[in-house]
Amino acid sequence: MHEKSVLISGGGIAGPALAHWLARSGYRPTVVERSPAPRPGGQTVDLRGAGRTVVERMGLLPAVRAVTVEERGIAYVDTNGRSLGQMSAEAFGGEGVVAEIEVMRGDLAQVLLDAARDGVEYVYDDAVTAIEQDEDGVLVRFQRSAERRFGLVVGADGLHSGVRALAFGPEEGFVRPLGCVTAFFTVPDRYGLDGWMRMYNAPATMLALRPDRVSGRVKALMGFRTPPTGVHRRDAAAQRALLTRTFAGTGWVADQVIADLQDSSDLVVEELGQTRMESWSSGRVVLLGDAAWCPSPLSGLGTSTALVGAYVLAGELARAAGDHRTAFAAYEAVMRPYIAQAQELPPGGVNGFVPRTRLEIALRTQAVRWMNRWPLRNLMAAQFGKSDAIELPDYAVSPPTSGAFVG
Ligand SMILES: Cc1cc2nc3c(=O)[nH]c(=O)nc-3n(C[C@H](O)[C@H](O)[C@H](O)COP(=O)(O)OP(=O)(O)OC[C@H]3O[C@@H](n4cnc5c(N)ncnc54)[C@H](O)[C@@H]3O)c2cc1C
Repeated sequence: MHEKSVLISGGGIAGPALAHWLARSGYRPTVVERSPAPRPGGQTVDLRGAGRTVVERMGLLPAVRAVTVEERGIAYVDTNGRSLGQMSAEAFGGEGVVAEIEVMRGDLAQVLLDAARDGVEYVYDDAVTAIEQDEDGVLVRFQRSAERRFGLVVGADGLHSGVRALAFGPEEGFVRPLGCVTAFFTVPDRYGLDGWMRMYNAPATMLALRPDRVSGRVKALMGFRTPPTGVHRRDAAAQRALLTRTFAGTGWVADQVIADLQDSSDLVVEELGQTRMESWSSGRVVLLGDAAWCPSPLSGLGTSTALVGAYVLAGELARAAGDHRTAFAAYEAVMRPYIAQAQELPPGGVNGFVPRTRLEIALRTQAVRWMNRWPLRNLMAAQFGKSDAIELPDYAVSPPTSGAFVG
């Protein structure tokens, strides 16, 4: 009776994408999201390879292209803003550091939400607090809503997944910190980017500015090396204070960006980490996206792997006619090799993003100058080619319907 009702925890990227596919194959998804409304914030995420193919199969490529951000490429600058080396958006066939399809995370989330409305129930400002499984289904308790039974529960609730903690155990057992904090926020366009993403490193810090889709604004990205701090759990005032202390006087436009940070309304601070798990399911509970395999933003593959995972999970459930054991095993079999290579970080790893010393910065800058030439060119091409390293099964799901089921 409950077999076709699926609770999805997390209304970010993976959650609504899965809801879209499940609704198309006759399931009744409910999405519970902790935030009171769809979360804005974040900056451009890359749509690459198989992730782009999934968006195409969802029929959403035109909607995504309509909100694509035009970026000319990435330029590494010195403290005076002079370019030290650059890579254009066309490098590596449009699959370089700046991918051909760059879209604001908030815009992509909105496109996915719009595509997963019919037949999908959304509950905001709530979260799962307890999960009890039996032979026929799962009893779920919530912070605010009354308890309910579902056939399946999916944790698509990000790096710090609540469902993972309840069904698999504490985060420390699964999330490997990478020793780096990142912050995303929006600032006024006063930095003369001229269409380029500009990135500056001082020892152990990184500041980047990228064009926004909306004129008059640019996206700021900060990164700094640190042992785990739990900063993502602190309030925005404490996060601003930490960023201000860390970046004051580091060079280039850091002081102006810090001044602009105080007025920003969409600050997102996160500790970089990767999720590593031996299994993504436990009975009727399964994990998806960052909750299961976060490859970290350094990979440039977090969004694409989440979209591909949503497609494969829904497709295998449909193919197995709802036999969740068979479907979850097939989902892992299809996804594991793709995820394993997505989690191998690009050459240099965190050091390529936030070098710790002046010598490391100089070496990284040299590497950028050589990126378009052999042998680095081959190394980088291999990294960017990973986005396509999966043969997407064809699940023959019916085309989108409207008004099939609500609630
Ligand atoms: C606001 C925001 C901004 C981001 N910006 C960037 C960026 O600029 N660049 C980049 O590379 N990556 C960014 N990311 C991460 C990126 O979206 C993911 O790596 C990737 O798209 C995988 O998506 P996901 O749906 O698995 O996870 P996420 O996109 O992180 O979505 C998880 C969702 O679950 C919700 N959630 C968390 N805990 C609970 C809970 N206990 N109960 C219910 N809901 C819960 C969160 O509020 C969020 O909406 C951002 C994530 C967020 C949430």
